[in-house]
Amino acid sequence: MAEFERALAEKVGAKHAVAVCNGTAALHASCLALGVKPGDHVWTSPISFVASANCARYCGAHIGFVDIDPKTRLMSVDALWQKLLQARDDDCLPRMVIPVHFAGHSCDMAAIHDLAETFRFAVLEDAAHAIGSLYNEQPVGACAHSDACTFSFHPVKTLTTAEGGAITTNDDAIAARLRQYITHGITRDESAMQLPNEGAWFYEQQMLGYNFRLSDLHAALGVSQLKRLDSFVEARRKMWNRYNEAFADLPLGLPVESSNTQSAWHLYVVTLESETLDRRDVFDALRSANIGVNVHYIPIHLQPDFRALGFSEGDFPLSEAYYKHALSLPLFPGLSDEQQQYVIDTVKEIVK
Ligand SMILES: *Cc1c(COP(=O)(O)O)cnc(C)c1O
Repeated sequence: MAEFERALAEKVGAKHAVAVCNGTAALHASCLALGVKPGDHVWTSPISFVASANCARYCGAHIGFVDIDPKTRLMSVDALWQKLLQARDDDCLPRMVIPVHFAGHSCDMAAIHDLAETFRFAVLEDAAHAIGSLYNEQPVGACAHSDACTFSFHPVKTLTTAEGGAITTNDDAIAARLRQYITHGITRDESAMQLPNEGAWFYEQQMLGYNFRLSDLHAALGVSQLKRLDSFVEARRKMWNRYNEAFADLPLGLPVESSNTQSAWHLYVVTLESETLDRRDVFDALRSANIGVNVHYIPIHLQPDFRALGFSEGDFPLSEAYYKHALSLPLFPGLSDEQQQYVIDTVKEIVK
């Protein structure tokens, strides 16, 4: 496991990497280590997997959302700024903001970091989609503009350990707290002990933690996968280029890469732009043609468990509009040229 952590830290250019049993545990442990307490406010993007929001709720915090920029589909920095101004007036500024690098595209981290300095909140990157992505020519995970960054190594992600996750950070104290939170709150470090050391067997539980460790077996998979990461990303970028060229003349909103980022292309999401194209019809037609399309994501705030917290339709209109038209096409290194051509031909047939 230590070997995987070292290799990961080196790959993304961070001082520390802490391996955990899944990406959700990485988010949860990070909330704890960054000091999220009951009653705090934590904000994320509605266009993400539910785990990005649940992690704050595990800590008793209030979850809030910031609407997306429809062009990038990422948390809008402008909307974040507006919401921060309002929260300052209302005296409910967030303790932490969790930008999600949706589909592999890095959020505008320098701008978010500037707001974090002004409004004094912690920044936790959810990079479950973004292992292998770059921001300002640095790997996502380097934490140049954040306190910590989480990854997931679930089988659907770009790099997998079967199940697994990790947190990277450059902060020694955060790394030490993470290590403690993922092993029951226990420390064996004598210099950190509160009671007299009673012998070589001695350890202390100093706070309530969890068993979130990654097994050595899973970590060994991670070590070998990391060596192949560049080739995975290259294969994905080739497929992305091919899709973008093939669909240029169709009534589709195509994913774009902003100038200071390089995406690892975890997802290839198009939006159906024509009034006469119903997303459900197109989705069903492609599934009938045996094409594994999907939808990423149902806006988190529209889930019944979040509506029960008071969220409702219309709260984040740009996220909701995006969701109504979004369609993810197959993109993974095992997709052959012929298979991708079949996807392209079938999409053209249905959408033209
Ligand atoms: C997959 C994913 C997670 C959770 O990761 P698990 O390893 O499945 O727990 C969190 N956030 C995002 C954006 C994800 O896609």
